[in-house]
Amino acid sequence: MSDCIFCKIINNEIPSTKIYEDEFVIGFKDLNPLAKEHYLFIHREHSKNINEISDSDPAQLSDVFKAISTFTKDSGLAETGFRVVTNQGANGGQTVFHTHFHVLGGEVLGGFGS
Ligand code: AMP
Ligand code: ZN
Repeated sequence: MSDCIFCKIINNEIPSTKIYEDEFVIGFKDLNPLAKEHYLFIHREHSKNINEISDSDPAQLSDVFKAISTFTKDSGLAETGFRVVTNQGANGGQTVFHTHFHVLGGEVLGGFGS
């Protein structure tokens, strides 16, 4: 989508620090990290949120989670642990409307269950 900032990152029209790339998915550093390590994983196909991607092409979710699995194993995050978060809509706190998964780690994370 032409006015989507994450599509622009995919097309290298705006800069990002990419940490993972394959045929279907890219991962890059979040501009405003909320943990020592904070990455965003997105499918190259535009969809606006998890409900849309689930309805239109749920296989894309497998593509993203396979990428997260490969990256976290290769980077060591899988060993120390990490969290995956996705936000949908206003109450969820979504600010960018290209489906994305936050991968947080590198330290003990507060909140949920701790
Ligand atoms: P959300 O609030 O779940 O929609 O998450 C959007 C995330 O995108 C936020 O954590 C922002 O810090 C991040 N973000 C926005 N613009 C950029 C950018 N150009 N490069 C990297 N991360 C970005
Ligand atoms: Zn997009």
